[in-house]
Amino acid sequence: MNGSNIRKLIMLLAFLVIAGFAAAEFLDLRHYKETVVVSEAFTEKRMLSEWLPNLKNTWGDTPVYFYDSGKPGATVLIYGGAHPYEPAGSLAVYVIMENLKLNNGRVILVPRADMSASTQGIVGHAYPQYLHIPTSWGQKVYRIGDRETAPLDQWPDPFTYVHYPSGQNLAYQDLRNFNRTFPGRPNGTLTERMSYAFMELIRNEKVDLTIDFHEASLMYPVVDTYVAHQRAEDLAFMAAMLCQAEMPMRSEVSPKNLRGLTHREVGDYSETLCVLVETAEPFIDRVVGRVTEQLMIDGKDEFLQRAAEKGLLYTDYDINNAQTIDTRVGRLLTSAIELINVFNMMYPDRAIDLWFPRYTDIITNGMGYYLHNPDEAVPSRVFLN
Ligand SMILES: [Zn+2]
Repeated sequence: MNGSNIRKLIMLLAFLVIAGFAAAEFLDLRHYKETVVVSEAFTEKRMLSEWLPNLKNTWGDTPVYFYDSGKPGATVLIYGGAHPYEPAGSLAVYVIMENLKLNNGRVILVPRADMSASTQGIVGHAYPQYLHIPTSWGQKVYRIGDRETAPLDQWPDPFTYVHYPSGQNLAYQDLRNFNRTFPGRPNGTLTERMSYAFMELIRNEKVDLTIDFHEASLMYPVVDTYVAHQRAEDLAFMAAMLCQAEMPMRSEVSPKNLRGLTHREVGDYSETLCVLVETAEPFIDRVVGRVTEQLMIDGKDEFLQRAAEKGLLYTDYDINNAQTIDTRVGRLLTSAIELINVFNMMYPDRAIDLWFPRYTDIITNGMGYYLHNPDEAVPSRVFLN
């Protein structure tokens, strides 16, 4: 073997060692389970595949948690994790799951709407894999995933994504975007099937109000905003006014010619009132510095500060008072509470009486205060998700 071949062999071995370390990290994220301690109002865990059996044993299947008071009242569906790289959505749903008190009606909670997307990082981006939330008894660890369904589970992408059934052409990778594939179809791609299963869940369980939690970049116009289907426009508008007591919030109505999104298709293809909520996430803007777990938690970034000073952002940003993971989770929680309050005013015959923490509670006590210790909980109330 000559010197050049030895060099090649050493390079190959070094590559395999590095790839081996990376593979171990990827595998770890793919199989990591989040722990949730459900509140006493919890009644039943079901799986999304119940509403579309061909999702069974796929990474598109996901747990659906029912909180049923057994007394008449509205059915409200709240889900997070349509885009797992916006983790405040999933965390807010977990906080509701752990603390919900329910006097009547029914609440259906899905913390990981696109399970597949939560099991890998963004391809080609050096994002952190996990988010650690401190509590008085230790820390709870959550996945930070991708925006789209993992290519491991749905591949290859088409050259052009033709949205079903509108026929509108969308960006090719949006065929793996859970919030671009509604209303979906039962024999389509994995992501289309997941969207279809959600539609079936909403139609069959007669969901009155559907709330979809997201986070947005600060340079994107739709931030700190409700986006409502036109049948829910008044609801969102009034809820935004009620939110002002704690935090600024806007509302807008879903554009009719933007297809595949929940606030468009879920409203068009079911009877539910559908509202999407966006909170500001100082992490996913392209201008930020290093995307670390610290940035995900404290939101402090000098480049965003400069963008704010130049008037490039669509919401307020101050590095000394930035949007932390707590303020973002709190914002989503209050957004949901005020939607439910206005729903109760508009439809008193179906009013639902419930409690979970809101913005002020999270700011006062920290999110960790509302996350319980699985080791001290009754085992039947602990779930791995
Ligand atoms: Zn999103």
